[in-house]
Amino acid sequence: MTYSVKEMFLTLQGEGVNAGARAVFVRFAGCNLWTGREADRAGAVCRFCDTDFVGTDGLGGGKFADAAALADAVAGHWGEGAEARFAVLTGGEPMLQVDDALVDALHGRGFRIAIESNGTLPVHPGIDWVCISPKAGSEVVQRAGDELKLVWPQPGTDVEMLEGWDFANFLIQPMDSAAAQENIEAAIAFAMDRPKWRLTLQTHKMLGLR
Ligand code: SF4
Repeated sequence: MTYSVKEMFLTLQGEGVNAGARAVFVRFAGCNLWTGREADRAGAVCRFCDTDFVGTDGLGGGKFADAAALADAVAGHWGEGAEARFAVLTGGEPMLQVDDALVDALHGRGFRIAIESNGTLPVHPGIDWVCISPKAGSEVVQRAGDELKLVWPQPGTDVEMLEGWDFANFLIQPMDSAAAQENIEAAIAFAMDRPKWRLTLQTHKMLGLR
């Protein structure tokens, strides 16, 4: 299969439980909750997206003819050293493209694989770290994993239902928008009210990382 990747880069994971970890980010093109076109945003299921996932023209992006080619590119971004190899598959919605061949190819090159998904598709069982970020108004089928990362506020979210899902970590993350300061305060209040949840911040944005 050919994989469409918007961009690929080596950085530090900025958010969630793995914040601070060196990682190759693979941003897959395309999402099933929004086309990525501004003209479609108002009618999309997910309307607050701040990510450009359209096309394959980003730095390190492109079309990769097969899993070996993509995994070789990931390994190339990591560079020398076999220790603690870590790849984060994100998007867009990565589960539109992640398959057995890619999981095997990355494992074969020594990578631990994390995914950041909206949860509307089942996550591949070979993924080592499953982060689901549910979007209000979507049907989440992946209700178990390592971290549930809720971007806040999202009117219409059934928080008590989310708390019944099988995740090892429950994280609340302020939405990055024009109302960022209010959203930070709302997320702090949320975490103070609900001790099951921990606040996570997008530290890569504060640090000037990608
Ligand atoms: S689900 Fe994620 S990638 Fe898709 S539109 Fe929403 S925030 Fe963007």
